[in-house]
Amino acid sequence: MGKKLLLEHDHVPGINSYSVYREKGGYASVEKALKTMTPESLVEEVKKSGLRGRGGAGFPTGLKWSFLAKPPGVERYLVCNADESEPGTFKDRYLMERIPHLLVEGMITSSFALGAKSSYIYIRGEYFYVAKILEKAIEEAYANGWLGKNILGTDFSHDCYVQIGAGAYICGEETALLESLEGKRGNPRIKPPFPAVAGLWGCPTVVNNVETIAAVVPIVNQGGEAYAQIGIGKSTGTKLISASGHINKPGVYELELGLPVEEFIYSEAYCGGIRGGRKLKAVVAGGSSVPILPAELILKTAKGEPRLMSYESLGDGGFITGTMLGSGGFIVMDDTTSIVKNLYTFSRFYHHESCGQCSPCREGTGWMEKILHKILDGHGTLADVDLLWDIQSKIEGKTICPLGEAAAWPVAAAIRHFRSEFEDYVKNPGNIQDVKHYYRLNNLQPA
Ligand code: SF4
Repeated sequence: MGKKLLLEHDHVPGINSYSVYREKGGYASVEKALKTMTPESLVEEVKKSGLRGRGGAGFPTGLKWSFLAKPPGVERYLVCNADESEPGTFKDRYLMERIPHLLVEGMITSSFALGAKSSYIYIRGEYFYVAKILEKAIEEAYANGWLGKNILGTDFSHDCYVQIGAGAYICGEETALLESLEGKRGNPRIKPPFPAVAGLWGCPTVVNNVETIAAVVPIVNQGGEAYAQIGIGKSTGTKLISASGHINKPGVYELELGLPVEEFIYSEAYCGGIRGGRKLKAVVAGGSSVPILPAELILKTAKGEPRLMSYESLGDGGFITGTMLGSGGFIVMDDTTSIVKNLYTFSRFYHHESCGQCSPCREGTGWMEKILHKILDGHGTLADVDLLWDIQSKIEGKTICPLGEAAAWPVAAAIRHFRSEFEDYVKNPGNIQDVKHYYRLNNLQPA
């Protein structure tokens, strides 16, 4: 097992309470930051650490923080994106449920670096019970002097709030999240201006993922350089991975970036191999939006090198033979999986979640779902497979937010790597009974 920085104490009884968390060294980063550092030096430590956004995009966190505009007399905000709605991703929920004070501590330390007097944790509506856990942790932090006025007798005062969303995937996009936080419909904004200049209520705002903010705690405690020694190349530190699908040990794992994918799937320390000893067919490595890869390309790159759990190695080969680390939603499929059915489920999801502002996304997601349904229902033609390819190719880069791409990439990758499976459905119209059974099982209505 590699080094653990976030989940070191996740199995300690009572670690969700203030007293146990504090016994294990909790809130030391706030003490260190407020008593020995300046906001500028803290931003520098985060830059030195090489930490990259853990929500999916992988943008360097220190650099993002340094873009924050600081016009005099204008409030600045830190917003935590706890909207975790990407299918296959549940690591933020685990962290918030198990160690809520780690996020609260990260919110305070990060807000000090950004000069934010207020911060918000925007959490998806389905996680209402986790919101309660966070609210309790925040109350305990106020009661023990970590939040409120003049924290630890310094000039720094800070308030932290939890805001529950209404359960829309699009509110994980940072500008849609800000709209929702302001009480409006969660429609993504046209950028620029970016949130660092005009974010929450028009004020400079940093939006970071739960895991990113939690990672600031060990960075401050150990120093940015020590953090950068962990991991591989530009993929520094550890990463939480939500592992699901046809594996023996689904769950949330913290791993040191650079671990071979093969070790992650087959070792007893992590996923424990494929369920029932079956054959690995494919993996969606970073949540439903990233390209699916067949077994041979997830275990080794096209150059024949072992594929590693890192931003660079998973991305090796671009979208032709590679994929993305994304949100860390690692979905494993064995040789019983129908890629076409899997893609249909994803496509239904994206069509349902499109906010409808842009025609390529609103119309394209609908047509992709309809065509997949037609193929699955035994009425598809080879021209439909080409049409599916054509539609996805007309979405990327033509929309306000990345949801359009998130819907198009899985379609492109599934056809690129598993075209023969689509053609099989068309040439040998599947067992209709089987498809109806699939609808019933998954509580779906045909499009
Ligand atoms: Fe809405 Fe889709 Fe356009 Fe994003 S890409 S703004 S979800 S229509």
